[in-house]
Amino acid sequence: MSSTDPAPDLDAGIQYWANQPANYDGVLGGFGTGPLPRVDAAGSRRFLLDLLPELCTVPSPFQSLSTHPSDTKRVRALDVGAGVGRITSDVLLHLVSDVALVEPVESFIEEARSRGKASESGAEFNESGYRVSWKGIADRSKSVTFFKGALQTFDPAAPGTPLDRVGCLPPDGDGNTESKFDVIWCQWCLGHLKDDDLVRFLERSKMALRDAKSLIVVKENLCAEPKNEPTTVFDEEDSSFTRSDLAFKKIFQDAGLEIVCEKIQHGLPNGLYPVKMYAPVISLNFLSVLTRI
Ligand code: SAH
Repeated sequence: MSSTDPAPDLDAGIQYWANQPANYDGVLGGFGTGPLPRVDAAGSRRFLLDLLPELCTVPSPFQSLSTHPSDTKRVRALDVGAGVGRITSDVLLHLVSDVALVEPVESFIEEARSRGKASESGAEFNESGYRVSWKGIADRSKSVTFFKGALQTFDPAAPGTPLDRVGCLPPDGDGNTESKFDVIWCQWCLGHLKDDDLVRFLERSKMALRDAKSLIVVKENLCAEPKNEPTTVFDEEDSSFTRSDLAFKKIFQDAGLEIVCEKIQHGLPNGLYPVKMYAPVISLNFLSVLTRI
């Protein structure tokens, strides 16, 4: 690719999303009211549970009755390019105890915040009229912290001052904003970063992972690879890249990450790009700490 080829522009990308409705249809390109959100969330939960089976809330029949690992440790996730908080509410809060979300578009993060606040107060609907009930927020067993920002500059290890928080105050108090993450979830937003910005964001994310068992999840559309080489297609409408499988693999390699698991998301409506989930980790030592895969 030459330096004159079109590439994502931060402001043009934000401008595009700021003109979309702040709801599931808006963040999912009009697929918010069909089966896509449920199929996507089910596939995501399954992917995460395969990698981190201890997040399962149903006790395993193979587990000793005297151990309850999920009772002892709080698990933190970061939802990047979070839109209106769809993945936070439909995937992450079902499996982890604390979520931080980062989103640059004002109307989206305000909608996410309003859904979180309504959940906290036990209301059935938020002020936009959406039925909400974020798990663990009304009973204050879980928390969601909101950060406004773009991935080009956001540092997961030092996210700065949060816009707000709902649910419990995590046991480590405000230090929570500086803590590390067990899971960093990146879905349908990495196309807004040029290759070098994306490598740098993944390098910063790597530094923000808690330990050898922590992981990044990348769930993105894939374009075709007619020449069997890394391929990137620019979309002028939203100023974003769609990358091919080999393009993502090159980026992970450049960021010093190794893929521990990759899976196609099946069951999405016809006519869309194929969607793939990758779990890049710091080192394949991850495999040796897995109890099951
Ligand atoms: N991940 C969410 C939202 C997908 S829509 C979901 O799956 O429901 C794409 C999201 O990327 C929008 O919320 C948009 O505002 C966000 N986005 C666009 N440019 C971004 C950037 N530079 N940094 C972070 N997020 C960005």
